[in-house]
Amino acid sequence: MALVCLLFFAAAAPGQTVLKTSHFTLYVSPAAARQGERALARLEELRSAMTALRGPTWVPARPIQIWMPATEREWLQIASTPFEQGLYRSATRRDWIVVNPASLEFIEVLSHEYVHAVLNHARPNLASWLAEGICEYYSTLELRYKGNRATATSGRPPGNRLAWLRGVETIDTTKLDSQLREPDGYARAWAAAYALWPDFSSTAPPPASIPIGGFTLRSEILQMRRPTLRLLAVTPAEIAEMEVEFATLFRRPSAEPLLSGRDQAALRAQELFVEGLRLSDEGVPAKAVQLLAEACRLRPSNSTWWHALAMAYRDTNDVEKAREALAWALTTALNQSEREAAAMLKQALQ
Ligand SMILES: [Zn+2]
Repeated sequence: MALVCLLFFAAAAPGQTVLKTSHFTLYVSPAAARQGERALARLEELRSAMTALRGPTWVPARPIQIWMPATEREWLQIASTPFEQGLYRSATRRDWIVVNPASLEFIEVLSHEYVHAVLNHARPNLASWLAEGICEYYSTLELRYKGNRATATSGRPPGNRLAWLRGVETIDTTKLDSQLREPDGYARAWAAAYALWPDFSSTAPPPASIPIGGFTLRSEILQMRRPTLRLLAVTPAEIAEMEVEFATLFRRPSAEPLLSGRDQAALRAQELFVEGLRLSDEGVPAKAVQLLAEACRLRPSNSTWWHALAMAYRDTNDVEKAREALAWALTTALNQSEREAAAMLKQALQ
């Protein structure tokens, strides 16, 4: 799969990297970054495909964050049963998906949880069994691309669902909600959704008894290209906010903090720098000087930061201080372009 990818490594918690696309933000351990990119590519694809199949309202109501725990052990600490492979949770500002990284059906589980987020918005009042069945139904959606078009194929049973359905001819939907806790419950929900979907109208109650069988693949041509996976920059403020939400939702009291002390200082410095730059751009150099000077104090090895500080001093007409900062920019310059930038500003100050 060709990924156009501006990999922006934003911040690392011990064992965590943050990858972001226009619709999703993903927490992943650096070792699993490739799996994380595959996950993001699938989610962007599914997002485009669901709207092409069902209409523009078939998207999640809020941004989605995905956490891929580094190990299965970490996953099992938050799973409610040993069989559960993924979960979807609605938080205050965003929704979260967590998937067992060791799941054999990783992409299907991820897709299933994503469809929960979509249904929460597009069809919020479905019976649990039907929502689960529809999530199962789209979890195996497959797309083949040719130019501006894609063939979307649905109807493939996820995992070993067919084995559970051997000998079952009808499904009693009045019992399905309670059967979701049994091993064959999801197979039954999938089969019932297959029989009802995609023509089911949620204004009518679903029938109490549904004949099943004759499962064949269903294909549809969609006007869509394979979405390009573009990874975007993540700001320190976003990460800090995510960290709070993450802690509230998932962290057990004994767990390690997501960011180590050193990472937190680095993030704080970066935050000050970004805010200082913004104030410089907005023509508030006196305030910018304070923030940039503090950022440079916390992380003195960064030539471009000293350069920004020198410019802010220049804008407050403090040429002396500007020269001082520039001297640091030159000292810490690591390459030709940093040296040249500092030299040019030095000339301009004379
Ligand atoms: Zn589910």
